[in-house]
Amino acid sequence: MKQRGLHRREFVKAASLSVLALAGPWAANAGAAIDRSALGKLAAKLRGRLIAPGDPDYNAARRVWNARFDRHPAAIAQCAGADDVARCIEFARRNDIPAAVRSGGHSQAGLSVCDGGLVIDLSRMKRIEIDPTRRTARAEPGVTRAEFDREAQKHGLVTPMGQCQDVGLGGLVLGGGEGALCPRYGASCDNVLDSEIVLADSRILQAEADRNPDLLWGICGGAGNLGTVTRLGFQLYPLREVVAGWVWYPFDQARGVMRSYREASRAAPDDLFTELCVQRPDDRDVMATVFVFHSDPARAARDVEPFRKLGRPARESIKRRSYLDGQAAAGFPVWTGWSSYQRSGFLPAITDELIDAIAAEPSPQGSDLWFSHLHGAISRHPIDFNAYHQRTPGFTFWAEADWQGAEPREAVEWVDRIWKVAAKASDGVYVNMLDVEPGREREAYGANYQRLAELKKKYDPDNFFRMNVNVKPA
Ligand SMILES: Cc1cc2nc3c(=O)[nH]c(=O)nc-3n(C[C@H](O)[C@H](O)[C@H](O)COP(=O)(O)OP(=O)(O)OC[C@H]3O[C@@H](n4cnc5c(N)ncnc54)[C@H](O)[C@@H]3O)c2cc1C
Repeated sequence: MKQRGLHRREFVKAASLSVLALAGPWAANAGAAIDRSALGKLAAKLRGRLIAPGDPDYNAARRVWNARFDRHPAAIAQCAGADDVARCIEFARRNDIPAAVRSGGHSQAGLSVCDGGLVIDLSRMKRIEIDPTRRTARAEPGVTRAEFDREAQKHGLVTPMGQCQDVGLGGLVLGGGEGALCPRYGASCDNVLDSEIVLADSRILQAEADRNPDLLWGICGGAGNLGTVTRLGFQLYPLREVVAGWVWYPFDQARGVMRSYREASRAAPDDLFTELCVQRPDDRDVMATVFVFHSDPARAARDVEPFRKLGRPARESIKRRSYLDGQAAAGFPVWTGWSSYQRSGFLPAITDELIDAIAAEPSPQGSDLWFSHLHGAISRHPIDFNAYHQRTPGFTFWAEADWQGAEPREAVEWVDRIWKVAAKASDGVYVNMLDVEPGREREAYGANYQRLAELKKKYDPDNFFRMNVNVKPA
């Protein structure tokens, strides 16, 4: 999915312990201030570490992937387990401050850091256990996509994940989890067998098929609305080798390539995942590029062939690879420190109007757009299988602008122009791709919104967990 070269940016900004209110759910109540002794008492109760302003690690600890969100929490609690999380929730409630839950910190909308509140940081919770005999895994939410894949591959096993290597399992899986194995095995959240969660009243519950099944339903796709998840159990499948890589077409062929891509996608079997992207690889000429990932090397050549002939390719890199190499080929290393602006929607079909709009102007420097094809197993589950609702075959679409320093007006305006056309064909949105777009919350849960709202009333009636794409209690 999203890609970006390796970059860093320094964050140095003084922070104060007492923080006054700012607008939005991420800000503390007016006048709220937390005194140091209260924080000291919390720190003493935690197995993990509490980092407050003034601590040499404070600036690094509050930093999130999207540098547009430069927020100053009252403290960051790097939790060691569910008991720490329960204490943090209790503390935030008693002090009437907001809490943001963080796993990998990759929220597009900056939802895992807040001003003046407490960050419940799970990024240090990285335990993974693989049971090769039962083909199951248990992982804590701070495990990244790449860490999970590596551990499971030691036993030749996989489960569907996204492609960005350092996205956290917490946000990825609770929102859905779209990636190369979705056509074959469904979304990441479709493969969750059980979970441990800390509720808004600090109770620690287990959720599985025969224990709190409603909670498990809402955890999978409910994007953190019901509580803080501290463990996820997964179904695994055997897979060691894939055929994967890119085909690059010059931008002057973009219209034909997109039309042919739309056609070829219709016949894609469950083993084949593809994405089409308009971007400037290496920051140079604009290209219409296609990523293919086939999970059955024996049948790949035939199935992949149409995607190598969507136009006259400038070059290609499709080859047999290890699963880990195939995942790495899909996404480049990424690093926190760039700002990102994005518009996204789910497209049941790619319209001629959208193709024409994209082909009419090359993406400016620092911008790109993507169509990620969802079909097969992910689309065969009924819409109420769990809270993840995108069950029609089609494309998760997004256009984005990324930058360091000053906002690139040309790129942001291009994103808005393209999105204006795409929005006409859009039906819903993948919750994990939303930027700050108040009013689109219902779109992110579709027909499952009402059931989630009822669960919210049952498990979080005061809407304590609101630093997310928020569902209001029914
Ligand atoms: C570079 C990049 C590439 C991406 N590629 C893909 C991809 O290939 N496939 C895909 O499906 N998505 C992709 N995404 C989207 C990604 O799935 C979301 O950004 C996801 O929410 C990130 O999870 P995180 O734990 O890193 O984020 P965080 O910022 O830590 O969390 C995101 C949201 O989830 C909540 N949350 C996190 N952990 C928990 C928890 N344990 N309990 C309760 N709530 C929690 C947070 O409060 C926040 O609201 C990509 C995003 C980026 C930035």
